[in-house]
Amino acid sequence: MGHDRVYNFSAGPAMIPEKVLERAASELLNYGGSGCSVMEMSHRSKEYDAIIVSVEEKLRRIMDIPDSYSVLFLQGGATMQFSMAALNLMGNTGCADYAITGQFSKKASEEAAKFGKVNIAASSKDKNFSYIPRQSELKLDPNASYFHFCMNNTIYGSKWDYIPETEAPLVCDMSSCILSEPVDVTKFGIIYAGAQKNMGPAGLTVVIVRNDLPFCPTDNTPILLSYPEMIKTRSMHNTPPTYGIYLLGLVLDWVEELGGLAEMEKLNRAKAEILYNRLDASKLFKTGIEKPYRSVMNVTFTTGDEALDKQFIDGAKKEGLITLGGHRAVGGMRASIYNAMPIEGVKKLAAYMEKFEAERQ
Ligand code: PMP
Repeated sequence: MGHDRVYNFSAGPAMIPEKVLERAASELLNYGGSGCSVMEMSHRSKEYDAIIVSVEEKLRRIMDIPDSYSVLFLQGGATMQFSMAALNLMGNTGCADYAITGQFSKKASEEAAKFGKVNIAASSKDKNFSYIPRQSELKLDPNASYFHFCMNNTIYGSKWDYIPETEAPLVCDMSSCILSEPVDVTKFGIIYAGAQKNMGPAGLTVVIVRNDLPFCPTDNTPILLSYPEMIKTRSMHNTPPTYGIYLLGLVLDWVEELGGLAEMEKLNRAKAEILYNRLDASKLFKTGIEKPYRSVMNVTFTTGDEALDKQFIDGAKKEGLITLGGHRAVGGMRASIYNAMPIEGVKKLAAYMEKFEAERQ
């Protein structure tokens, strides 16, 4: 990496590919001969329209999103989708299924409970969120308007190893794994993700939504929280997060140049394997996540000793490996190795782990 940049293992906002930042910098002051920055353009201008249309096209191509789905570019983060999904769908039957496999799915269920009855269809809390419940264990409510789950649990470092099969449409929080591997979009009713991990800067939330879902916003639903309104106006009821959308376009160009999501998945698996192999070989570090459910994006581990963990994190920083502290709710370490983390950064971390351990034997 150039520009004296460090390997940043933050869970999000996270690294953005250097090439993307360089291109954004080169276009910052005068985009495509327009004489102004994308940040300064009217969202209703011809120039900006060309940008947003092309970003949507690229995302559709890369994720293979059929025409029967809308792609929305919203604000409010993934957290706003916790409310928006419930506000638009729960009223159909007054209840929805939630699988609780970590903090964000729990938060999503708490938000939904403000609007109807939440059925906890499954939870892995009994074993500190170290696993993903099996399909046969899901206690589905036959009346549920939808089934909500979080594909990759950013804080605990676990990931669903299958897509649940349910009568009700799937609503999926993919914040920390979108664009990391191919997914079959047709299996989902709604996919949503905050951009700040694999897609670009914070402030943009991408929502992929099947058009024929029975949306039921009421007269009291805030207009910006209505999917039908956002679908109708193509995310342009008000000013969308224009610069974030543009930057997503640059990230998508970078993904395509690398060979698309199949190639991305290979790279990501290779990166994760380096760290998990190191952890499996280690006597000092351990990960709490059972093997089949280990996240490819967020690798969590600890020495089991808070002071030693701190030494590790402080020492890593001196090596240019930053933000390795675990989420404040769980402590320990977390290496978030999203798409933009180069494999060199992961190798450097694994080597540092080995050295740190050897020095303490
Ligand atoms: N869901 C998941 C899986 C997350 O990782 C996060 C953020 N780390 C959120 C939801 C919340 O996202 P936001 O801050 O964009 O609301």
